[in-house]
Amino acid sequence: MNADLHCHSVVSDGTLTPEALAARAKKNGVELWSLTDHDEIGGQARARDAALALGLPYLTGTEISVTFAGLTVHIVGLGFDADDAALLQGLAATRGGRRERAMEMAEGLAKVGIKGAFEGALQYVGNPDLISRSHFARHLVKTGVCADTSAVFRSYLTEGKPGYVPHRWASLGDAVRWITQAGGEAVIAHPARYKFTPTEEYALFCEFKEHGGRGVEVVTGSHSAAEYVRYAATAIEFGLLASRGSDFHSPDESHIDLGSLPPLPAPLTPVWDALAARVQRPA
Ligand code: AMP
Ligand code: MN
Ligand code: MN
Ligand code: MN
Repeated sequence: MNADLHCHSVVSDGTLTPEALAARAKKNGVELWSLTDHDEIGGQARARDAALALGLPYLTGTEISVTFAGLTVHIVGLGFDADDAALLQGLAATRGGRRERAMEMAEGLAKVGIKGAFEGALQYVGNPDLISRSHFARHLVKTGVCADTSAVFRSYLTEGKPGYVPHRWASLGDAVRWITQAGGEAVIAHPARYKFTPTEEYALFCEFKEHGGRGVEVVTGSHSAAEYVRYAATAIEFGLLASRGSDFHSPDESHIDLGSLPPLPAPLTPVWDALAARVQRPA
């Protein structure tokens, strides 16, 4: 099945509306879709309504920012109840502090001669509670500081660079519990992206399972083909369900479009098998 269970809209750091993403997913042949905005589920009703109107089955989604062993890890939540009070409160707490962080980022950039970056980034923000590094990146590309967003991250927005501000996100246990206690499944997003030692990565997977997490992204726009193979083995080693998602943000920035990834490697059990009862289907 062409499931695409990871992407972003203007409700977080994507550039398309939930409706435009639904139409793009449908056009690209997606058969099961989820919008997974960072730390926010304000776009869920729009995404679901648009998907169902197009005949596209839908799972609720989000991508929660977590701090683990000093690094940021992303946990995707799928198929939860979007009205769950503890989940809503947890996401709001995780989002809180992004504005202050963004002002500090702008101060760091001002020190290297890039003035007005906070106001500049805000021009790209669709949700005032969700100012992200991506919005700064778009502003710095638009004003000619860098040629593309990857170059902005490399030179300005990653650890040790002038616009980088460390931030404490949710804990791993809290994020997994918010999702699972709302009836959903928690999935470790793009594991190859984290710069952990093998021991730390092992601890991440063990603790994730102890908290009730059951899935891992194997095929994602953030992984190479070799990494599909590596994390397919990890999924089997830890007895985890496998997920698949483009992590699409923007037609101008994302290399992998909605619905265009290869299938999950054969021996894996897809996370959507465990979520069949949570899928919202067209009438
Ligand atoms: P934030 O939650 O504000 O720390 O921003 C994280 C977001 O920045 C991620 O979800 C990606 O969309 C984007 N991002 C992180 N690293 C890179 C990179 N190297 N190149 C392009 N985008 C990136
Ligand atoms: Mn993002
Ligand atoms: Mn992510
Ligand atoms: Mn993402």
